[in-house]
Amino acid sequence: MLFVSTRGQAGKVSSAHAIKNGLAADGGLFVPQSFPELSLDEILSMHTLPYDQSAVRILGLFLTDYTVSELAESAALAYSPEKFGADPAPLRRVAENTDVLELWHGPTMAFKDIALQILPHLMTRAQAKTGADTRIVILAATSGDTGKAALEGFADVPGTEIVVFYPDDGVSQIQKLQMITQKGKNTRVFGIKGNFDDAQRGVKEIFSNTELEKEIGEYGWVFSSANSINWGRLAPQITYYFKAYADAVANNRISPGEKVIFSVPTGNFGDILAGYYAKKMGLPVERFICASNSNNVLTDFINTGLYNKVRTLNKTISPSMDILVSSNLERLLFDLADKDAEQVSEWMNQLNGEGIYKVPRELVEKVQDTFFAAWVDEEETIETIGKVYNDHEYILDPHTAVAWRAAIKYRLLTSDNRYIIVLSTASPYKFCSSVLKGMGRAEGLEESNPFDAVRRLSENTGMPVPKQVTALAEAPVLHKEVIDADKMALNIKNALGIPVENF
Ligand SMILES: *Cc1c(COP(=O)(O)O)cnc(C)c1O
Repeated sequence: MLFVSTRGQAGKVSSAHAIKNGLAADGGLFVPQSFPELSLDEILSMHTLPYDQSAVRILGLFLTDYTVSELAESAALAYSPEKFGADPAPLRRVAENTDVLELWHGPTMAFKDIALQILPHLMTRAQAKTGADTRIVILAATSGDTGKAALEGFADVPGTEIVVFYPDDGVSQIQKLQMITQKGKNTRVFGIKGNFDDAQRGVKEIFSNTELEKEIGEYGWVFSSANSINWGRLAPQITYYFKAYADAVANNRISPGEKVIFSVPTGNFGDILAGYYAKKMGLPVERFICASNSNNVLTDFINTGLYNKVRTLNKTISPSMDILVSSNLERLLFDLADKDAEQVSEWMNQLNGEGIYKVPRELVEKVQDTFFAAWVDEEETIETIGKVYNDHEYILDPHTAVAWRAAIKYRLLTSDNRYIIVLSTASPYKFCSSVLKGMGRAEGLEESNPFDAVRRLSENTGMPVPKQVTALAEAPVLHKEVIDADKMALNIKNALGIPVENF
């Protein structure tokens, strides 16, 4: 299987090349040239297959330059019971025709672990396969979950250095604690004086700074990305869509071959795009619900065909979806526009320039055939957490609550009462105070002490506190630096041991 860029100017490359580089040289995103199909029997067999073996089955279709034993070793290490418990993606029965796919049983309690636990294995092997003897510097700007999941995945991985930038006042207290207590000799974490956009812009500038690239290259380093623009992050996410479907059939929620709906809390469009790829590979899906918070750029786009990022970024209680440029949408456009790279480049240039592009009517209609979009405000999110707890004794984190509510909106608008799987992307313990607010139990919380909310959530629900949270209370703070956004490159060089003048 070879990979091409959505901008059409990067030739055909192997999966190892695509994974090592992250972004294509022409600024586009790597996509596979074709999508192999699975038979219904193969899909259903994933119910009894161990998760790591299902992952090997899916990854093997795309990462054809890796041997099956390389993939099997990587998946076994990534999805071990010590890291994810018995099942990395359990499907919970919550309401009559709605289940929740819990994707947060990994080390950092967010769905990003599923990709970021395996990416380092794929990347170090890619390094060996492409014959390079450089060491990799992983850069990540994070609104909370990516940073910690990437740190946990890459910590102490030989031949890599991982540098994470987070907005100092833009992540939850638990998220911040998770990052600043990160262990590992090769981990560096910096708070940025600014918001997520400032951090993200800084990282993008560093990626496109050829002088800096050359300079770190002289010391044997090369930059790469752990964001979902990397094919190595997207591919592992395809697995759980198949596995969830197999489980739903085995649990008699649907009959074999029956079409289902997935509701996905969406930010960068990576998670939902993996689902779209699963559908292309033969998974019986009626539609995907693209659920957004008040940063509803995607809702507008799917409903009108106009993508307009010219608006202010709202800080919400579902911070991992606070994003105005959903990078992976580019991959969907490329697919639906019949791989017209020239056209995709034009739209992306317009987005970079004026901040707006509009796709033709036929294309919007194709998008709408597969995607339904809805957005959910803060009040509705809080209300949904309370209602689902009262009605079903199930606790949703704010991101998952957005997807749940979007599914309700879908049913109301379409009268389609088909079975829906809501993807749950974070543990409620990552966002205790919002969850308590939804349950009406937030009165008098000690704002400065996040563990007060943790204790109260567990007291009120009987849901055990995850060991990762308990450990945070005692973990020493190892990363204290908060820096100006314009000093990111300097701090990277310094972290790599490259001499910096006047530092
Ligand atoms: C990253 C994240 C999302 C958004 O996923 P995308 O792939 O960026 O669309 C949703 N919820 C949580 C908790 C996340 O960490």
